[in-house]
Amino acid sequence: MTPDESALSIAEDVRHGRRSAVEVLESYLAVIDATEKEIHAFNLVTRDRALATAQDVDAKISRGIEPGPLAGVPIAYKDNLCTWGVETTCSSRMLEGWKPPYNATVVDRMSAAGAVMIGKTNLDEFAMGSSTENSAFGPTRNPVDVSRVPGGSSGGSAAAVAAGFAPLALGSDTGGSIRQPAALCGVVGVKPTYGLVSRFGLIAFASSFDQIGPFANNVADAAVALEVLAGQDIADSTCIPSPEPTLLAEINRGVEGLRIGIVRELLDGSDEDVALRVHQAAEALVAAGAFVDEVSVPAVEYGLTAYYLIAPAEASSNLARYDGVRYGLRRRGSNVEEMNMLSRRHGFGDEVIARIMLGTFALSAGYYDAYYGKAQKIRSLIRRDFDIVYANHDLLLSPTSPSVAFKFGERSDPMSMYRSDVCTIPSNLVGDASMSVPFGNGSHNMPVGVQIMAPALGEALMFRAAAVLELAEPVEEVHD
Ligand code: GLN
Repeated sequence: MTPDESALSIAEDVRHGRRSAVEVLESYLAVIDATEKEIHAFNLVTRDRALATAQDVDAKISRGIEPGPLAGVPIAYKDNLCTWGVETTCSSRMLEGWKPPYNATVVDRMSAAGAVMIGKTNLDEFAMGSSTENSAFGPTRNPVDVSRVPGGSSGGSAAAVAAGFAPLALGSDTGGSIRQPAALCGVVGVKPTYGLVSRFGLIAFASSFDQIGPFANNVADAAVALEVLAGQDIADSTCIPSPEPTLLAEINRGVEGLRIGIVRELLDGSDEDVALRVHQAAEALVAAGAFVDEVSVPAVEYGLTAYYLIAPAEASSNLARYDGVRYGLRRRGSNVEEMNMLSRRHGFGDEVIARIMLGTFALSAGYYDAYYGKAQKIRSLIRRDFDIVYANHDLLLSPTSPSVAFKFGERSDPMSMYRSDVCTIPSNLVGDASMSVPFGNGSHNMPVGVQIMAPALGEALMFRAAAVLELAEPVEEVHD
């Protein structure tokens, strides 16, 4: 086994009896035993349950039952995805010890495809953050350089794949939480079109943005994972009633004749080492027959501001349910109000409290039009600007993150942390598809991710471009 072994090859081996699902699982558990202490990708490793699931997969195969496209593939779930009877914490004291009475739809779909849950991964509390430093249970470290953050909020999932703890992981992406950690850890991360993947059982942060998507070592594995995840679900009314996408079969069709735009505004604000890789990625796409030019999406400049009003506004409403009564932590008070207040004050960390306050303020009478209302108008402007460029472009290109992975504690001022999301937020604001593909290293020899964006339901084309970049990955290194 190699740390970047592909999920597809594991499933092939298991299906044909070359290895058992139990053997595969044990090889990953051995890697976890060796290095998880240093990385802290997991809130929980579900060892016994994983063993029972892997045995089930092996039993199915020996009885000649179709085991599914991900037979015996270990998978890690971000700890904001509900798993039946398995602690789901959102890396918050508020939900510590809470065992959901149901599975998220994505968890059921992965199980039906033969995947084996290996554990629940660390995140910034309630998915609010870009470094996992906001986890109530301590940060995750970047496997490429443990003195640096893995990104966030799905830092545990990205680190799990990068460290070889699992060939696949799931995360959620509200403003970049799959793509940014994927870029910082050097793995593939996909934010599907809003509505392509059911969010039933994803603990809500900002419901008009949240999407679930895969992390993988390579583009083909991410494609298969998304094929398994995608599709309508009657339990999530925001699911698009569209046919499930065909991704893997199309992946090697190349980019000849495609029109791809580099988003100037997102390139301009990025570090030089990162911008250089985006230019090299563009050259690789040109060499493969695409037409690449620079485009302008002017309203993206206001994306960050709009996101940090709308997302906290939605969060303030979604998190109102943690009242000390229905879930998790309860602190006693002399009356109900005091019990609510004490439970919330002790259950939530500083960033979550700051966002709830910001969101409540943005929605309050007298300020609603000035803040929330204006932010929604910016959202419409960004949609309009994207529509204009997509009228004569198939895909867009940008950095995923304006910089490579930073050191712990380096971004203690919230604005400098929020700026980590400047390139990823626009596609959340409009609900389009986007993904990050590793493309060489930048300063400090840390991985750089290139972001490919596509219009809604443009995943098939997006994956084709990703496959071209994967093959063209530059070898020479940038030195500081
Ligand atoms: N980093 C962004 C935030 O803090 C995005 C988080 C996410 O996508 N869940 O809101």
